Amino acid sequence: TASAARTLTIGLIPADGIGREVIPAARRVLEALPGAVMPARLRFVDLDAGFEHFQKHGVALPEETLAALKSDCDGALFGAVSSPSHKVAGYSSPIVGLRKQMDLYANVRPVVSGAAATASGERRAIDMLIIRENTECLYVKQEEQHDGPGGKYAVAKRVISERASRRAGEMAFAMALQRDAMRRQLPEAERAWKGRPKVTVVHKSNVLSVTDGLWRETVRGVHAGNAAYASGVDVEEQLVDSMVYRMFREPEAFDVVVAPNMYGDIISDGAAALVGSLGLVPSANVGDSFVVGEPVHGSAPDIAGRNIANPIAAIRSAAMLLERLGGDAAALAIYRAVDKVLADGRALTPDLGGAATTTDVTDAVCAQL
Ligand code: ATP
Ligand code: MG
Repeated sequence: TASAARTLTIGLIPADGIGREVIPAARRVLEALPGAVMPARLRFVDLDAGFEHFQKHGVALPEETLAALKSDCDGALFGAVSSPSHKVAGYSSPIVGLRKQMDLYANVRPVVSGAAATASGERRAIDMLIIRENTECLYVKQEEQHDGPGGKYAVAKRVISERASRRAGEMAFAMALQRDAMRRQLPEAERAWKGRPKVTVVHKSNVLSVTDGLWRETVRGVHAGNAAYASGVDVEEQLVDSMVYRMFREPEAFDVVVAPNMYGDIISDGAAALVGSLGLVPSANVGDSFVVGEPVHGSAPDIAGRNIANPIAAIRSAAMLLERLGGDAAALAIYRAVDKVLADGRALTPDLGGAATTTDVTDAVCAQL
């Protein structure tokens, strides 16, 4: 095919624990994709990182890994990193390092379920994409403690910049349009979100009028300043508290949600609870020139090495990676294959109440493809 001329190079960083099981599973799924849906040939590069690597070699994110990502790769898949329970001198999380080094300024988390339980016990379709600003807000970690006349007090700095807000907003509106284009490839009955593309801007500018005020103004400015966004995407606002309330009451009311770092962190974990197992939820760390797919779960030491980890979060993360790299059709094929395996219910890992292995689920997804 014409696309065979191009090659996409994917760095694979399984890192720790079940990362070593679910990343190879995701690779097998990528390799099983039919040529007709592929945007390019895929090439894989195995790369080291993680806490276990730190324990053996004294470094969690080796220079060679970074160099290979920067010079060789179009994107990467990261497994999971086990976090030491106590502070270890010289250790810092490799995924946090990666986000910084590769300028992955947004964390993107789809929350999808054909049948999610809501507070009222009904089961409804959810198809929401949360975009969390990934570089600033309270996570600049500038805290200080002082002694005052009434005792100690502590102050944390919260940074909101026009640049970071614009980049997050830009990504939200672009993704709203891209999701709409992808949905149109599906039969009407399979679309959870049936309306026009919509972006919900989360903030608390009634209280934090300076910081969240800047965030809100900037994101709205991105919408107003771009003809395609202004005419093609609806925009609404939610105060973060009522966002949480509405998300649990009517999760089907959201398409794309964009939030500053800390609100996004909280909302996205809450949203994951709406759709069941951690083993189902993917994410992508996205920048202008690089993307790292990453399942939301951790290294799960309690089940590591037993071939029972659910590979679906990693498989969906691989699909998100392809989506960012121009492979909509390939991504859609993976999403649909996974949905069929879940709906079929015969190949489910123990976290979903089944007795299948990681290998069984991966085989079933590959067979659907
Ligand atoms: P870490 O410190 O690496 O985050 P953790 O002990 O917090 O490790 P998580 O990976 O966050 O473990 O998982 C929390 C719980 O969810 C664990 O009981 C784990 O077994 C389960 N879990 C997480 N991911 C999966 C998965 N892919 N399949 C099945 N169960 C999972
Ligand atoms: Mg954890």
